[in-house]
Amino acid sequence: MTEAMFLVLIVEDDAGIRGVLRMLLESQHYRVVEAESAARGIIEARNHRPDLLVVDLGLPDRDGLAVIREIRRFAPTPVLVLSARTMEVDKIAALDAGADDYVAKPFSAPELLARVRAGLRRNAQGGEQLPILATMPPAPTIVTLSP
Ligand code: CA
Repeated sequence: MTEAMFLVLIVEDDAGIRGVLRMLLESQHYRVVEAESAARGIIEARNHRPDLLVVDLGLPDRDGLAVIREIRRFAPTPVLVLSARTMEVDKIAALDAGADDYVAKPFSAPELLARVRAGLRRNAQGGEQLPILATMPPAPTIVTLSP
């Protein structure tokens, strides 16, 4: 299996952010499926069996944490949380719900891609989890998002 075959599911209600993520991921030759709500995300995860999920926490129907818990009932797929919530308690809640990693918005494109690669690598190696990294200093490429 080559990297070109990896499928990433984006669960994010902001169309602008979804577009940026799709562009970034497709630039690395990943295939991308998008979901704009928690309910849709769970359906797409069941349908497509992605290799990795990027999950926003602030979704219109249910909290992203609910998506993560639901996914964990049927798949060990790596979950990368992408959220504007930057409190330590939010990160801990996401990790406890089953997330593997956490990236705060606004995010650095190179860092996000590096964490996607790390998640896919861990998946390929059998799901060994690494501890979440401390917040990294701002990278040169910052994606600015609407509030
Ligand atoms: Ca959101």
